[in-house]
Amino acid sequence: MIHLKNIHKSYITGSTELHVLKGIDLHLKPGELVSIMGSSGSGKSTLLNILGLLDGYNQGSYQLDGQEISHQISEKEGAKLRNRLLGFVFQSFNLISFKNAMENVALPLYYQKQNRKKRNLKALKYLDKLGLKEWAHHLPGELSGGQKQRVAIARAMLTQPKIILADEPTGALDSQTSMEVMDLFKAINQTGITIVIITHEKDIAEQTDRIIHIKDGIIRT
Ligand code: ADP
Ligand code: MG
Repeated sequence: MIHLKNIHKSYITGSTELHVLKGIDLHLKPGELVSIMGSSGSGKSTLLNILGLLDGYNQGSYQLDGQEISHQISEKEGAKLRNRLLGFVFQSFNLISFKNAMENVALPLYYQKQNRKKRNLKALKYLDKLGLKEWAHHLPGELSGGQKQRVAIARAMLTQPKIILADEPTGALDSQTSMEVMDLFKAINQTGITIVIITHEKDIAEQTDRIIHIKDGIIRT
């Protein structure tokens, strides 16, 4: 599903170059539930952004669902593949504060130019699946952290992605709520969706089938 070979990534700010990823090799099979662990600043988000086609890389090769991803994929091609294959979940939920839960979930279909009635109906279906039907018309500010993250997960699932990429999805949640979110990811994974969870919390990583450690820009096995 995901094949990374010898991926290098540097950031250049002014005249200084920061070599963050120094030869990442990574293979993920379809249907895997994995976590990527590493200390703050070790390059976890950098790696996830590359996996998610949100950023390019400098060297190496990346194959996603059988397709070769060039190191500088175009905005348009990246968006097309993201729409078809990927769902994202972030620590800070990334919900739009002036749109209600249903409209937030429906957002990916708005970008796909589906009509309002259709996309809202589909969003309601997913909110119902995640036990949030009664909250459909509430704004994010009226929801708890756990509810907000479930709305974000519903949004990620709406386009039926093959892979969900989650960057510290429990980072802003208490431990009870974190475990509920992890149970949800496990249930979603049971439906065959590949899930990558970035975390620096050991008890979160231990909920996944495989833990990948990143240190000093490479993966230690
Ligand atoms: P993590 O998610 O593991 O905390 P990141 O991937 O966010 O780590 O960052 C790795 C390193 O790269 C850090 O030193 C960070 O400051 C730096 N970095 C991240 N993004 C950028 C950027 N856009 N420009 C310059 N440096 C960056
Ligand atoms: Mg990060």
